[in-house]
Amino acid sequence: MAIEFPIYLDNHATTRTDPRVLAAMEPYFTQDYGNASSGSHVFGWRAEEALQLARERLAQAIGAEDAREILFTSGATESNNTVLFGAVAASEKKTPHLITVATEHRSVLDPCRVLQERGARVTVLPVDAGGLVDPEAIACAIEPDTILVSVMLANNEIGVLQPVEKIGAICREAGILFHTDAAQALGKTQMSVERMQADFVSLSAHKCYGPKGIGALYLRNVVRRKLQPLLYGGGQERGLRSGTVAVPLAVGFARAVELCAQAMPGEGRKIWELRERLWQRLQASLDGISLNGHALRRLPGNLNVAFEGVDGAALLAAFSKVALSSGSACHSSATEPSHVLLALGLAPALAKASLRFGIGRFNTDEEIDWVADHVIEVVRTLRAKRQGASSAKV
Ligand SMILES: *Cc1c(COP(=O)(O)O)cnc(C)c1O
Repeated sequence: MAIEFPIYLDNHATTRTDPRVLAAMEPYFTQDYGNASSGSHVFGWRAEEALQLARERLAQAIGAEDAREILFTSGATESNNTVLFGAVAASEKKTPHLITVATEHRSVLDPCRVLQERGARVTVLPVDAGGLVDPEAIACAIEPDTILVSVMLANNEIGVLQPVEKIGAICREAGILFHTDAAQALGKTQMSVERMQADFVSLSAHKCYGPKGIGALYLRNVVRRKLQPLLYGGGQERGLRSGTVAVPLAVGFARAVELCAQAMPGEGRKIWELRERLWQRLQASLDGISLNGHALRRLPGNLNVAFEGVDGAALLAAFSKVALSSGSACHSSATEPSHVLLALGLAPALAKASLRFGIGRFNTDEEIDWVADHVIEVVRTLRAKRQGASSAKV
């Protein structure tokens, strides 16, 4: 099969909407376009019916017993913000205390920073060299004013899977709310809200071949009153998320999750093999490279590699034919090394000289082989140039 360029290897940033998902959504734009809150006519009834079915499918995918425990949001960012701001607002503690981890997504860390500026207290726990947080450290960080622990299921940069079941058990026993951001894990791992003992779970459609702009928040029924809404208005989603629900997107979200469930575990195995193929080829031809994040406790499609002796900016600039991410994030003006890689203990320069390969459903053997050869060539060239430059100086 001919390779189409550029090759897409940025499946942690977002995924292509599966054509079957698009097909499922289409009628809800053009025919059954009613508002699910319109109770007086058939357009509204059909929309409400579709929404209910989507809710049930999502609940089933994460092992939730009651479909009402699924609230639709605009994405995992909104779900994370809803939990963090909402739990602090609903708390009766004078100075509520939150516990989270240094490698969390920005949409958890930034709300925590803002809450801290407004008077809450936040403990940000470190991770080990593999990117894992120690559940015992969480147990030790719990104080009388602790209201919530937020630890992601799968990391978006290094794919590492946190020991959420142990953390959930600790929180449940201590009577503290437990939130997990599962945006990267949905559709790629077997997930059970019961086993994780999670009170809140953030989900997103566009990381698992669904449409952008929709996500969900799983909210355990018994903790419903522990959240105050961010949005007030029509009282949709049990009063916790006012605003007309995006029915076509919800239908697409549910279809995407259903397709992932049908494809698992075969798809995971195929993607893991592609990842191994890439990693083995790189290792066979290049010295001075290392894997970022735990070798086994990770998502199948994630390969995050640090390349010694190359400049990060030059490395990323060399990849015009492959879409991937580097270990640096562009903030308003400067390029900063990734906070996740720094938390693993990488030096800033090495963090910047890292690449994140995100392999997904639509990648092929041919693409992976091409990318492996290309990376090897690029790294060799950059290293040779650098050697040339440094010997010229001498
Ligand atoms: C993508 C992502 C988010 C943000 O999700 P959106 O739906 O784009 O808002 C949050 N957390 C993690 C871990 C993610 O990968």
